[in-house]
Amino acid sequence: MSQPTAASVAGWTPIEEEAARATRIKHPDRMFPRPLSRRVLTVANQKGGVGKTTSTVNLAAALAMHGLRVLVIDLDPQGNASTALGVDHRSGTPSVYEVLLGELSLAEAAQLSDQSDRLFCVPATIDLAGSEIELVSMQGRESRLKEALSDEALDQIDPDYVFIDCPPSLGLLTVNAMVAAQEVLIPIQCEYYALEGLSQLLRNIELVQTHLNRALSVSTILLTMYDGRTKLADQVTNEVRTHFGETVLRTVIPRSVKVSEAPGYGQTVLAYDPGSRGAMSYLDAAREIAERGAAQ
Ligand code: ATP
Ligand code: MG
Repeated sequence: MSQPTAASVAGWTPIEEEAARATRIKHPDRMFPRPLSRRVLTVANQKGGVGKTTSTVNLAAALAMHGLRVLVIDLDPQGNASTALGVDHRSGTPSVYEVLLGELSLAEAAQLSDQSDRLFCVPATIDLAGSEIELVSMQGRESRLKEALSDEALDQIDPDYVFIDCPPSLGLLTVNAMVAAQEVLIPIQCEYYALEGLSQLLRNIELVQTHLNRALSVSTILLTMYDGRTKLADQVTNEVRTHFGETVLRTVIPRSVKVSEAPGYGQTVLAYDPGSRGAMSYLDAAREIAERGAAQ
């Protein structure tokens, strides 16, 4: 019988072990600090294709790989986060839709991702597509998710981090996510129209703060799909940093083919190509988030 490795003793899956080996030189310490209290982050930007889902799943996987328990809630009927985490989300699968209706608890709908035994996902099925309209007539329509994310319900899974992946709209699903969280994480794509629509997003966040959730704040901005060959990427980066200061993570996620290929294999980039620049960047970004969480 082969000797157990430190990683297998720590309860790592083979994928995590391989990823850790590939990144050990750059990231020698294995564990990220736990937050002082459970953090619930909504990943939102009504602009489509800016990296909400990619950031959600890769940050979640990086935190799980470094010893933290993480729950991803897929709140987008497209179900992209569920796909990237290799979680079943065919129509009829217990999902966030039944959770919003109050028919299932979080723990009943949550599945363990095959990428880590600390990474859970409440999937989204196509059933969620009609919910923007269905929610309108429901009692407490803006706070259905908050109700479902009670301390007792979360304790059953006991995550250190909860990430809610929003659809590209400012409809009721996104409002539910903002009411259920304390923090908003905004991914911003480093390209020309990046800042367009941002003021509308911020206005909506303010409205939620005023009327529905005083505790909400924009805690984190992550610059994504940075292409160092273009001047424009630097201009956008500088502009965002000037506007938002310390809220912006130091780490910038580069545009990388590996990042875009990974979901096609039902994987995060950390599992698909752990040594790639994309994987390294998401690890660095996750470390920053964890360090902030431990210091807050
Ligand atoms: P939507 O608004 O549709 O939910 P989104 O904001 O969640 O989109 P993603 O799905 O994460 O955005 O990313 C959009 C596309 O860009 C995807 O095809 C994804 O694979 C690709 N992508 C994301 N980040 C990167 C990156 N760093 N490098 C290359 N491709 C990327
Ligand atoms: Mg998405």
